[in-house]
Amino acid sequence: KKEELKRFAVTEVKTKDGRKVKVYANIAFPDEAEIAIKNGAEGIGLFRTEFLFMNRSSPPSEDEQFAAYKAVLEKMEGKPVIIRTLDVGGDKSIPYLNIENELNPFLGCRAIRLCLGHRELFKTQLKALLRASVYGNLKIMFPMITTAYELKEAKSILQEAKEELKKQGIEFSDKIEVGIMIETPAAALVSDILADEVDFFSIGTNDLIQYTLAIDRTNEKVSYLYDPLNPAILRLIKMTVDNAHKKGKEVGVCGEIASDENIVPILIGFGVDELSVNPAKILSIKKKITETDCNIEKSKVNKYLQIN
Ligand code: PEP
Ligand code: MG
Repeated sequence: KKEELKRFAVTEVKTKDGRKVKVYANIAFPDEAEIAIKNGAEGIGLFRTEFLFMNRSSPPSEDEQFAAYKAVLEKMEGKPVIIRTLDVGGDKSIPYLNIENELNPFLGCRAIRLCLGHRELFKTQLKALLRASVYGNLKIMFPMITTAYELKEAKSILQEAKEELKKQGIEFSDKIEVGIMIETPAAALVSDILADEVDFFSIGTNDLIQYTLAIDRTNEKVSYLYDPLNPAILRLIKMTVDNAHKKGKEVGVCGEIASDENIVPILIGFGVDELSVNPAKILSIKKKITETDCNIEKSKVNKYLQIN
């Protein structure tokens, strides 16, 4: 069985009826890019950059970050690499940022909100990313965007970072795509508006489920309610995919459900273009895609939107 799976390490995959679905990897450390490649990743769909900022007493320098991003881009040899900007706050605290204790940290100063409040920290990361962009196919992704205003602010800081580098005479790619995670219900509900302002979406179902069903993803007492197939979740996913496609933008899923063989056919039925999964799951998810028929899955969509 292992041998049978291995052939997927070197091939792209299509559904039974010929639709291409991209399979990318989620990584948290630069070293994992190697494992992703070995397992047949066609790109990195989510590089969580938090590791660079955690378990230390001061933020990483621009050069230190640049080296980490460059390493991943080089390892991926021109394949797409979606690097997510800092997503801390929530359950991930960083002592040197002096985040005040919050009663509801997941609803507080987290991810893009935190970065917009720490502009220099954010701009340093963006400059490191821009500098690394000449070493591969970089796409920048902002986490936890909830409103069009936050996206506009994030993009304007990215623009500032570009201008500063230009002044310094430092090179960066002029083809960097910018995308956002869709992981709050608000973002999914206005995804038609947001789609005009970005190159791609990636649905973060771990948080989308938490915020939509009002279930703390870290609280074991309510984990029995954490249901990815709740029609409220599936409606938001469908809405997001439809809105993106109307504007000609691609949609990935990078939450844990993309690594679940039982859920993948449903996502394909909804029209998802890319799945970003744990490196260890790439081969089996590729196999599942080849066994899936889009038309059959599409015919089940309405049922999923109604029944739990
Ligand atoms: C998500 O929320 O689905 C996601 C991929 O981001 P994280 O798990 O890092 O919050
Ligand atoms: Mg998330």
